[in-house]
Amino acid sequence: MTLRESLLDLLFPPKCPFCARVLDRSGVCGGCESSLPWTGEAHSLWELPGALRCAAPLWYQGAAREGVLRFKFQGAAGAGDPLGGLVAQCAAERLSGEFDTVTWVPVSPGRLRKRGYDQAELLARAACRRWDAVPLRLLEKIRDNPAQSGLAEGEARRENVKDAYRAAAPEAVQGRRVLLVDDVCTTGATLAECAGVLRKAGAEAVVCAAVARTPLGRSDAPAPF
Ligand SMILES: [Zn+2]
Repeated sequence: MTLRESLLDLLFPPKCPFCARVLDRSGVCGGCESSLPWTGEAHSLWELPGALRCAAPLWYQGAAREGVLRFKFQGAAGAGDPLGGLVAQCAAERLSGEFDTVTWVPVSPGRLRKRGYDQAELLARAACRRWDAVPLRLLEKIRDNPAQSGLAEGEARRENVKDAYRAAAPEAVQGRRVLLVDDVCTTGATLAECAGVLRKAGAEAVVCAAVARTPLGRSDAPAPF
């Protein structure tokens, strides 16, 4: 741990991202560890439309959903590290050897100014810290579309994200096998759109990872935000 990290720990001690219990190191507390809705072996890796594979350690419900919502909408940026740790662990278990580059689904510049941080970037950076790597900014959001969470239907979600992203560094994408990180996977429309942009820019392969996935059969249920 660097001096800067020790000082930050003193000022902002690591907390469990799900119940806010103060911990002696970044992670999930024992209570949440045993009670969270883990996707488990059978559901932590699945296929999105377009044969795009995605890994996620948690179902987007209960305490897992509340933790992600606090991270995204209530300024709980500190949760990025432990949540990114969960993404890293799941991606390492389910997608090991399938990527050599990490990037994320970016928010728009307007959203970034308002929120102060790009939540998927924090997750990608935190995951990469576990691998002694640094994520690359390969995508940018060029259109401020309405939030996906307000749209129920799959087709509307696909239309909403169409042409909303472009390759930020096409030369860096060439021949890469990319892990694309986002916070939540609902219908996969955003991940599919971004994966398409990366492939068009020359990526050899794209796989995805998120903190949580919408429970089966409820993928069309709009979130309250
Ligand atoms: Zn906890």
